[in-house]
This record gives sequence, structure tokens and C-alpha cells, in this order.
Amino acid sequence: MNTTAAQRHEVLVLGAGYAGLAATIQLAARTRKRGNLRVTLVNPYDTFTERLRLHMTATGQETAVMNIPELLDGTGAVFVRGRVTAVDAGAKTVRIDDDRILRYDTLVYGLGSVADTAALPGVDEHAHTLDGPEDAALLADRLARLDGGTVVVGGSGLTGVEAAAEIAERYPRLRVVLLGRQEPGANLHPKARAHLDAALARLGVRVRSGVEVVEVLPDGVELADGSNIPADAVLWTSGTRVPPLAAAAGLTVDERGRVVTDGALRSVSHPDVYAVGDAAAIRQGYGVMHGTCQGGMPTGVHAALSVLRVLAGKEPEPFRFGYYHTPVSLGRHDAVVQFTRPDDSPRRIVLTGRRAAKYKEAVSAAPWPTFARMKKMPASGAFWPHGGRYTRIRSAK
Ligand SMILES: Cc1cc2nc3c(=O)[nH]c(=O)nc-3n(C[C@H](O)[C@H](O)[C@H](O)COP(=O)(O)OP(=O)(O)OC[C@H]3O[C@@H](n4cnc5c(N)ncnc54)[C@H](O)[C@@H]3O)c2cc1C
Repeated sequence: MNTTAAQRHEVLVLGAGYAGLAATIQLAARTRKRGNLRVTLVNPYDTFTERLRLHMTATGQETAVMNIPELLDGTGAVFVRGRVTAVDAGAKTVRIDDDRILRYDTLVYGLGSVADTAALPGVDEHAHTLDGPEDAALLADRLARLDGGTVVVGGSGLTGVEAAAEIAERYPRLRVVLLGRQEPGANLHPKARAHLDAALARLGVRVRSGVEVVEVLPDGVELADGSNIPADAVLWTSGTRVPPLAAAAGLTVDERGRVVTDGALRSVSHPDVYAVGDAAAIRQGYGVMHGTCQGGMPTGVHAALSVLRVLAGKEPEPFRFGYYHTPVSLGRHDAVVQFTRPDDSPRRIVLTGRRAAKYKEAVSAAPWPTFARMKKMPASGAFWPHGGRYTRIRSAK
């Protein structure tokens, strides 16, 4: 088919994370024989960042290198290496950091989230994060240079727990202190929490919950009661925020800056923009989804299907997703897997120990082979738990 550039529909996907890559592969694989649609993916690195393994990178462990252009080879999708600096939703263009301007007809916004380092003074200046491979490598370098001393992990959510356990296991010479408002694993079933507590104790992690950090200092953290905890390194994992680009572009965002979507995952203010993964505020019957890989990949697949249905003049289907598990690593040989109801509340079923560690490893390793399979058989990526009655009742279209 002879299609001129003016006739071709340009889909631009921002961010090659779990959600953006799923959207890209689905779109490209389903349309590779058509000349009238082109998919372009923009990402700062040409290798895939396995965020699920960044606590491993941060403790000096090698992880597999996954090349994005190689994955896209044969699909017709174009890879552009660059960091997006602005979206102009009126002109339908995106600017990247080398000042190139990319035009789109349909945008898929999947820029993910990062630790909320703006919430407290001193975090940006003095704390490490697990936001990307460079941040994780910086922490790895710092930890490798410490002969002894204290590492404070700020934030007792599951990212903080995984990081504290990993650091304590890799560097027994370091004293690891895990700080947070809540007890680690507060949302897990008591059986899972008991295992998690015992594992942290076994690894020597000092847990201090019920504390409020008010500032990160060059040599420690200050707590709300006025006391200080001296630290040789601070890792900040508490809270998440999203890039401000969507809000700056005038898209409707929620109080956390996430793009508010309709049931088809389109922006409610700009229907030619779809939002996926952590960067999207996606409402289900049980509330707005929180950022996970298990939910992020389905949002990418579903957004791709919505784009194709709309272009074919059909009504898109509403997105429905129900959670099913929370796997938490506790170093390399231990873990806890909490099975959940679709609304993410804990069931009584819990896996612990080596079997749980194997399960967690299988989950962490699954996305890349899943992308490769979707490239050959796009339909293979279109299965996930839809959440039954938890999402059926009030799912908005
Ligand atoms: C240490 C850690 C452990 C985790 N463990 C789990 C787990 O066990 N299970 C689970 O479900 N979830 C886990 N999560 C959460 C999970 O990683 C996220 O929910 C998931 O990565 C979201 O996918 P995403 O595609 O929306 O964003 P991401 O995977 O973060 O991808 C976003 C992409 O956008 C790119 N990007 C960002 N800004 C720009 C820009 N300006 N221009 C161009 N590209 C940009 C990034 O480089 C990245 O490639 C963990 C997170 C961390 C940090």
C-alpha cells in the first residue's frame, strides 16, 4: 500500500517501561502489515529498566541487559532515544531533550513514577533513590565503598522492605535501619507479616515504625521528635510522584499529577491521549489503581486495543483489572507472596521461604519473555484477571 506521510496515522508512545512497551508491542505487532499506521517509542535508554530489580542493581548485582531496539526489530515500530521535555497537546507534538519535535495523531503516555523526593527538605540533595538504573548504580557505588556504618532506608512500604533486606543480606558489615510511619507489610495478612518481620530480624534490619522523618541531612535524618539518626547513606523510597509533563500540557490530572482516564484509558480532557501504568489514574470499582507491574502491563495492552478499535470506528471496551498477588523479596533466598482479592486486600493464602523466592523470581523475570511472545502472538498478552464483581459493578465507561 502506498501511504504518504500525511496519510499515515502516527502513534507516539512515551516511556518504554512495563506499560509503554506492552502498548508498543501490541500496536506494532497487530498492525505490522499495514502501511497506514506507524508506532514510535521514546525512552531515555535503549535498554529496558527492570524496576522490579533495581534494589539488586543498587547492591551491585548484575542483571540481564535487554535491548529495546532488538525487541522491536521486525515489528515496524521506530525507537527514538531521548528524554521527553514537553508535550504540546494543542499542536500534538512532543519535544525531546535534543530539541527534536515529534508529531503525533495519538499519544500513549507511559512515563511511570519516581520516589517523591520533593515531599521533604534534603531528600533531593542528600538521599539516594531507586528511580532508574543510574540512581541505583550511584547507590551501589556508595555501598561498595562503605567499610561499615549505617544505611537508613526511608519508607517502610514494600520497596523499602525489599531494599533494606537486600542491602542487609549483601552487606552484613552495614547496619541497616528501616524507618517509616507504618509497620513493614502493614497491608499483608498477619501470617505474611510475621514471616516478613522474622526475615528482617534474621537479616539484622533495625525497624523503627511510627516515626516521621522531617528532613534528610548530609549525614543522617532528622525525626519529628527532634532526634537525629546518623547515616552514611540514605535511601529514599517513601511515596511516589509522576513527571509533571501531563499537567504542564493541560491534561486533566489527579492530585498526584496522574492523567485521569476514562474506561478506555483515554485522557478525559484529551481523547487522543491514552495514559498507562503508574502515570495514569485509572478508576476501577474498588478505587483508583495503584502502581504495579502486574496492573501496568495490562493497561498498556488495553490502551493499544482501544487505539485500534477507535481507529476502526468501533466503541472501545472498558478496562477492568483485579489484583491477584503481592510478591515481596527478602534478599535472594527468602520472600513472602501474599495472594490478594481483586481489590488488593489480603487473602489467607501466603507463600513464604524458598518457594516464595522462586515465585518472586519467576514474576520478576516474566515481562521480557512476555513482550517477545506478544511480538509473535499479540493475543497472548490479552489475558489478565478482570476482577469479577470487584470491577463489574461500578466500572466506568
Ligand atoms: C525497587 C522497586 C521494586 C518494585 N517491585 C515491584 C513488584 O515486585 N511488583 C510490582 O508489581 N511492582 C513493583 N514495583 C513497581 C513497578 O516497578 C512499577 O509499578 C512499574 O514499573 C510501572 O510501570 P510503568 O511502565 O508505568 O513505569 P516504569 O516501569 O517506571 O517505566 C517508565 C519509563 O518511562 C521512562 N521515562 C521517564 N521519564 C521520561 C521522559 N521524560 N522521557 C522519556 N522517557 C521517560 C523511564 O525511563 C521508563 O523507561 C517496584 C518498584 C521499585 C522501584
